[in-house]
Amino acid sequence: MIPVPILSELTPGTTQRHLVKLPGAALANDESRPVISVTGSRPGPVLFVNAGVHGGEYSAVETVIGLGKTLDPKKISGTVILMPVLNLPAFRARTPFVCPIDNVNPNRVFPGDPHGSYSEQMTHALINEFVVHADAYVDLHGGDIPEALVPFVICRSGNDDVSERSKAIAMAFGLPYVLTVDKPVQPSKGSSSYAAAAEKGVPSILAEAGGVGQMQEDAVELLIQGVINVMWHLGMLPEPKSQIPSSKSQGNSKSQTKKTARRAVATGEKSGADTVPAVLRDSDAGVAAASTVLTKFEWVYTKSAGVWYPKVEAGDVVNKGEQIGTVGDLFGDTLERIISPVNGIVLFLTINPSVLENGLLMGVGVE
Ligand SMILES: [Zn+2]
Repeated sequence: MIPVPILSELTPGTTQRHLVKLPGAALANDESRPVISVTGSRPGPVLFVNAGVHGGEYSAVETVIGLGKTLDPKKISGTVILMPVLNLPAFRARTPFVCPIDNVNPNRVFPGDPHGSYSEQMTHALINEFVVHADAYVDLHGGDIPEALVPFVICRSGNDDVSERSKAIAMAFGLPYVLTVDKPVQPSKGSSSYAAAAEKGVPSILAEAGGVGQMQEDAVELLIQGVINVMWHLGMLPEPKSQIPSSKSQGNSKSQTKKTARRAVATGEKSGADTVPAVLRDSDAGVAAASTVLTKFEWVYTKSAGVWYPKVEAGDVVNKGEQIGTVGDLFGDTLERIISPVNGIVLFLTINPSVLENGLLMGVGVE
């Protein structure tokens, strides 16, 4: 079977490793990108999952690596295609937000341009070689190197079929917040991965967990569980309990703690029947009910360059008019009081003290 032409023949019932040269003149000298295909014994949907559109979101990258090692093709209907890192130049150079070759944020130029800059050619290749061949697309992110965040999923808002199916996948993923948006948050040449995929008719979400330049095991656990929840939602796994990354595969004694922490975030419970497989518990409990839907994403900026002193943390509730931090100069004088423009939840927060003029401080989700 050849569901994704650039990978050639895939053998049912096997996991295969590929080294892929993406098309595009600007990418001609790139190292090959690792891609893993997990081809089920039975036919079914094609799910494409990548991380590393932003090179410093390590929990997302580790999630894709972990899925490649733990998904059992014998138990899957359909095919899962996994790309751990798209933006390899940023990953190698530890560059946050952008690709160091053209200084462009790849997640602002989807669906890309085959004659554009490096990032535009890279996103064009991702959409046309992978996303358009999938029945569903999950783009995994997190806070980048200077960012902390509370786990959330983004998808396109709307009443059309693709948006409805995207939202159903977003709810199935099972993170605390689902944000539906109808236009890019930042003005830019293009759009984001999930919006471009939806434009192509492919239901799609962007899921975020982890951050601050670290590989955070709780975040990895959340994202792995989220992808498995999506596979169950798409009918790629016959029973929820048949496809769980076991503690054996995770290979350490922290597994139980991680699962408990994951459930605590996802369901609001402190602890519970820890022996019950997490995916079974979530499906029984109704993941959809656990996610709070937010419909507006308000980003807060500083006017002045300086030293950032946030008064809130990721996940905090903030009120319109509330002082949520200050920016000072290097003498210690306050330059600016940062006031929340809305009632909402702090979804991500810049945690590095050094901020530039018009620098991004946080994103607040609004119900
Ligand atoms: Zn990102």
